[in-house]
Amino acid sequence: MLHGKTAIITGSTSGIGLGIAKALAHAGAQVVLNGFGDAAEIEKTRAALQSETGQTVLYNGADMTKPDQIADLVAKTAKELGSVDIIVNNAGIQHVAPIEDFPPEKWDAIIAINLSSAFHMIHHAIPHMKTAGWGRVINLASAHGLVASPFKSAYVAAKHGILGLTKTVALEVAEHNITANAICPGYVLTPLVEKQIPDTAKARGMTEDEVKRDVLLAAQPTKKFVNVEDLGALAVFLCGPHSESFNGASLPIEGGWTAQ
Ligand code: NAD
Repeated sequence: MLHGKTAIITGSTSGIGLGIAKALAHAGAQVVLNGFGDAAEIEKTRAALQSETGQTVLYNGADMTKPDQIADLVAKTAKELGSVDIIVNNAGIQHVAPIEDFPPEKWDAIIAINLSSAFHMIHHAIPHMKTAGWGRVINLASAHGLVASPFKSAYVAAKHGILGLTKTVALEVAEHNITANAICPGYVLTPLVEKQIPDTAKARGMTEDEVKRDVLLAAQPTKKFVNVEDLGALAVFLCGPHSESFNGASLPIEGGWTAQ
């Protein structure tokens, strides 16, 4: 379905980004992986995805806090793979603390990685999409783009911001066969969530099991974590032939969390 298309997925060495990269490659796209981690592990993942899909799979370690490295990621992809058709702005970090204890440097890092990196990616990728006459921008927001939870001021602010960015870009590119949409997942059991459980437990004075049951899944009526595979399938749909009227949307995939 996506043969001949090139996708960059930021933050795809782990969790949701890796799941979306796998889904796009299995749907026929060439993909560029990005993110941090052990070099040998990343190479193993890259090589395995390339051999199981038959698609070119590259890795670029651009740091999403560095606008010049983001510019280089987009330019290199266009040069090496011929186009930049799909960008998935997924890289993200979290920090959980009451506002009065929230470290300002964590605020800056979360805004840079979870929000500003998406601006820089879009800024550099849109000219390639306009030239090709087709493009897809997928931003990973969160249920926390639609509603808040305590102790996550920077994350919630960044995720609300990314919905505004998504809508604005959607309006600007609508007549160029380019769409911009945001996916708003509920809790997915990835390293990002696993890491915040101890901090949430500390902030709320709970055990880690109580945090999983009474904080994380308390918000999700299904009482189930969202699957990475379902997010991959949604991303493939948003790039597929029946997606062209989805534009500027904030798509919840959170077991009914924001229906409450
Ligand atoms: P994760 O921690 O498993 O993966 C994050 C990825 O981002 C990793 O590949 C990491 O290396 C990369 N990354 C971190 N800092 C980076 C930087 N400076 N430059 C480049 N890459 C960087 O997290 P995840 O749960 O898969 O989250 C992915 C996205 O989905 C995030 O935007 C997150 O906010 C969003 N999200 C996650 C959940 C959830 O429950 N896990 C829910 C809603 C939204």
